[in-house]
Amino acid sequence: MSATLLQGKPIAKKIEAELAAKIKKLGLRPRLRAIGAGDDQASTLYLKSQKRAAESVGIDQEVTTLEPGATEEDLIGEIERANHDPNVHGIIVQMPLPKEFRVDRILDTIHPSKDAEAVTTRNLGRLLMNKQGLAPCTASACLRLVEETGVDVYGKEAVVIGSSKVVGLPAFLLLIGKKLTSTICHTGTFKSGTLESHVRRADVLIVSAGRPALIPGGWIKKGAIVIDVGINQVNGKTVGDVEFESAQARAGFITPVPGGVGPLTVMMLMQNLVDLVCLQAPARQY
Ligand code: NAD
Repeated sequence: MSATLLQGKPIAKKIEAELAAKIKKLGLRPRLRAIGAGDDQASTLYLKSQKRAAESVGIDQEVTTLEPGATEEDLIGEIERANHDPNVHGIIVQMPLPKEFRVDRILDTIHPSKDAEAVTTRNLGRLLMNKQGLAPCTASACLRLVEETGVDVYGKEAVVIGSSKVVGLPAFLLLIGKKLTSTICHTGTFKSGTLESHVRRADVLIVSAGRPALIPGGWIKKGAIVIDVGINQVNGKTVGDVEFESAQARAGFITPVPGGVGPLTVMMLMQNLVDLVCLQAPARQY
């Protein structure tokens, strides 16, 4: 048996068409401002794919990159200007930031009503409280991929590897919200030598550690849904955190890397922006 490939692009295309239709009805062109400090190559690539996705649905993306040597206060000032600009509907802060910058303080400067990636304490707290709202884009992409399998996962075992605030932790909260029995693993699980036992019982496995070949294919439960978020460069090739070929032989569904979670993440950002526009003016119907 070979697992069905869960490709992100066709799902992203479906969402793209839905969003383009919604935006037409809004009667305005939503505007996303991406603010960054630094010239990271991966971040530049992500901005380009953001721009393509934005244009495809009718969103304006504006990029502000601070001059080299800009301070944390300069960045905060730029975010505050965007908070007060009525023409800006959503804000994202491009990662990575210079090492000395306090990321949590910076992200919490974004007004929650303009937090397109749902990374402020307020919006993550809403997710924790199971309140309706936005979720971080990659975590939403993982859940959407699970839903696209059409498998009834109610009450099934889910295991998330990685507890980052933008991927692992929110993915775990979303899984609990869908009534999966969920476990989150991290470096402590790895060091205690119990990672394998958790992975072996996962009906749904989401891996976001950034460690190539962390999960041998032989650990995958037969028929499992495997979502590999990891992006690693090995000998000039982009690979995930799961050993793909051996995992594909056991899983029911598996995401490729690249081409799985990535293309969907950027479309989830566009979806979040459209949701923000509607939340900012609740009377607006679409
Ligand atoms: P992060 O570095 O913030 O967190 C990594 C998490 O993995 C931590 O919780 C850590 O405890 C855990 N971890 C690390 N090594 C481990 C090990 N040996 N065993 C068990 N757990 C371990 O990471 P992140 O921001 O969640 O990103 C993780 C990976 O996902 C990276 O490769 C990143 O490039 C990729 N990523 C992809 C997308 C996408 O759209 N496809 C989006 C975000 C991140």
